[in-house]
Amino acid sequence: MIESKKRFEIIIQKLRDEGHKITPQRMAIVKILSKSENHPSVEDIYDQIKEDFPTMSLATVYRNIVLIKSLGEVLELGFPDGSNRYDGNKPYPHPHVVCIQCKKIVDPDLGSLDNMTEEVAKETEFKILNHRLDFFGICKRCQAKKT
Ligand code: ZN
Ligand code: MN
Repeated sequence: MIESKKRFEIIIQKLRDEGHKITPQRMAIVKILSKSENHPSVEDIYDQIKEDFPTMSLATVYRNIVLIKSLGEVLELGFPDGSNRYDGNKPYPHPHVVCIQCKKIVDPDLGSLDNMTEEVAKETEFKILNHRLDFFGICKRCQAKKT
């Protein structure tokens, strides 16, 4: 995981460079995205800040995420059920492990996955632009809950 403070500064600077105002609401959204603990959904982010910004709507959070995504500073993880999750801590493609029960999502930190893109390119002679690699399973917590 990248230091969230550093990611926060990078995203804020990029917004500034592109001429976007840095409002307190925007800062609150960027703060959560820069950490992206458990890869939040738009609703998760909204839930975390609605108390501090009671006039802010879910649509505002969504628009901010779309903006930050357009700057390449957040990775969007789409799922067939329509529940998109976000990673602003690591905005570049990387593997994820998804719990099919509680929807927890973590970043596996495996050296064996580092050279994957290079190996795939070599093997297929493709110029690789992007990748998506998800592992689905049941997290430790959900396994313990099972009766
Ligand atoms: Zn789980
Ligand atoms: Mn991630």
